Amino acid sequence: MVQERGQAPRDPKFSWAFAVICSEPVPGFEPCRISPGPKTDQPLEYVDMLSVLQQTPDQLTAWFAERSQPAYRAGQVRRWLFERRADAFERMTDLPLALRDQLAAEFRLWTTQVATLRRSDDGSEKLLLSLADGERIECVLLRDDRQHCTACISSQVGCGMGCAFCATGIDGVVRNLAAGEIVEQLLRLQQVLGPDERLSHVVVMGMGEPLANLDHVLQALALATAPDALGISARRVTISTVGLPAGIRRLADLNCQYHLAVSLHAADDALRDRLVTANRKIGIAAVLGAADEYFEKTGRRVTYEYVLLADVNDRVDDARRLVGLLRGRPALINLIPYNPVAGLPYRTPSAGSTARFVDTLSQGGLNAVVRHRKGNRIDAACGQLRRWGRDSRQ
Ligand code: SAH
Ligand code: SF4
Repeated sequence: MVQERGQAPRDPKFSWAFAVICSEPVPGFEPCRISPGPKTDQPLEYVDMLSVLQQTPDQLTAWFAERSQPAYRAGQVRRWLFERRADAFERMTDLPLALRDQLAAEFRLWTTQVATLRRSDDGSEKLLLSLADGERIECVLLRDDRQHCTACISSQVGCGMGCAFCATGIDGVVRNLAAGEIVEQLLRLQQVLGPDERLSHVVVMGMGEPLANLDHVLQALALATAPDALGISARRVTISTVGLPAGIRRLADLNCQYHLAVSLHAADDALRDRLVTANRKIGIAAVLGAADEYFEKTGRRVTYEYVLLADVNDRVDDARRLVGLLRGRPALINLIPYNPVAGLPYRTPSAGSTARFVDTLSQGGLNAVVRHRKGNRIDAACGQLRRWGRDSRQ
């Protein structure tokens, strides 16, 4: 019998699951030998300065207009930040010196500090960032053999959705990340790229529930996709959600072409209520209804994520129920073997039961893949962040 989340032993080390785990030795993760990238020398109390990454394109243009500067100046700043990876205003040499000084006097470029940078032997790199208020978040760079560089970013400090198996949700949500803090993860990850590499994909699959912080996530993704910022195609951006119907509908109405991944984990409400506390107020029917609408309005096939937990949701009967639920939907099912989280009672299924589960889905006509992840050790390290995989159909 699996313990419910409320019965799991409370352990102070969970309060900052990412932070603590990152500061402990992790098998397969050696402290990185390369430079941890530019750190800000400014003390954290500089937080009261405006963050330049927090500015929308319109706000930055208005700032320049107030100083009788042409609108293209804002684009120049964005290009320096996102394309040319400038780490200080003084490096933006095609801006007049006085203007660079003014920018530096009024805006802060970095609000985070790199607390830890670890590199896995498979090329994945994991950054632990300290935020200006002392909170900590994690983001990961994932490389694959197709030269894809995927940024996996966080949307909140902690998470309020209460999934029983997830390290992030254990102590609930602390706060939403500001848009600038989300963008900054992309820039920090970009700093660890080689000169010939560029970010090709973004997955919002780190800490937190992105649809519970949708305004800020959308503001950040607008910069990720803007041609004069990171310029990543919206179709290469994935938002992973526990399934908040109002947020999914909002995304559908915006028709912004982001790829939607819904974390389902169970085919009936009794089991999903146990595994995903948030489901108790939502219900699977409402989640699927909103996801169907997303497909109808955007034409983008929805991915369903299903974390396989040994003897909890990985039996052939569970697979048959999933077939009954999803058959006929133009969906892809990502099966994710569980990465154990210390102190939680869930286990990774055996290869045999995983194979039986996939076979049952395939025989039922579902399009299912098991995510064998190159970034496996990162998952093991934080119990949360995971690789989107090579064949994400994007
Ligand atoms: N809150 C969002 C996005 C962050 S979680 C969501 O739930 O979709 C990203 C994915 O990682 C989810 O599918 C989640 O179920 C999965 N996940 C969380 N903890 C995990 C673990 N220990 N092992 C494997 N997958 C995990
Ligand atoms: Fe939150 Fe996602 Fe973890 Fe659930 S799996 S607690 S929604 S981060």
